[in-house]
Amino acid sequence: MRKLAAGNWKMHGLRASLAEIAALEAQVGDAVEVLICPPATLLPLVPRGRILLGGQDCHPKGHGAHTGDISAAMLAEAGASYVIVGHSERRAAHGETSADVSAKAEAAVAAGLIPIVCVGESLDEREAGRATEVITEMLTASLPKAGTIVVAYEPIWAIGTGAVAHPEQIGEMHQLIRQIVGPGVRILYGGSVKPANADQVFSVANVDGALVGGASLTATDFLPIIEALGRAQALGTIG
Ligand code: PEP
Repeated sequence: MRKLAAGNWKMHGLRASLAEIAALEAQVGDAVEVLICPPATLLPLVPRGRILLGGQDCHPKGHGAHTGDISAAMLAEAGASYVIVGHSERRAAHGETSADVSAKAEAAVAAGLIPIVCVGESLDEREAGRATEVITEMLTASLPKAGTIVVAYEPIWAIGTGAVAHPEQIGEMHQLIRQIVGPGVRILYGGSVKPANADQVFSVANVDGALVGGASLTATDFLPIIEALGRAQALGTIG
């Protein structure tokens, strides 16, 4: 099982940003899987190579009157092999429930995509001692019935804040997720992963890679994170 460095570009990236993917393509090896989830508009413009591509969301239905939405099959045809589902920004800004996320993950699997199912607790939930309960409930309700998946543990308070979770917190939550999903599923950590903290994050048991937002936007920042993951892969610390 190769580790996975996944970049979530969110609503960033015009044609000029393709140069960042080209720069990565020129420098990455084969040690770990590298994935970029750019805006869907850029997917068909990326030349096929080592860098894998993913969508940032998909609709649970294959087609229909859903203005502004995109189906898993559309993403696959545009070049994606993965799709992020249930990112906390979509749960918060679009009111997505875990049942919605599960339906999206099902649609992704049906279209031949690997869904990256995101879960994460808020700061209030963590401070109330409810992180374990929240993640157990959210993950169980967000999973598809079958198919290959990746899980991303992304504490909401660590996303885009610079406040990376403590290794003990990451280890505890990834162990919990491992108990739920079993041994064959990669579990990514997401939340302010940067070149300076990547080695520490990747040394934690059951961390099989990262979902990276801000630091995935440039090859200069993402490459050292990919290299840190490669070192962890070489050490055989995969969970
Ligand atoms: C994310 O959006 O999934 C994320 C982890 O963002 P950042 O790395 O910027 O905290």
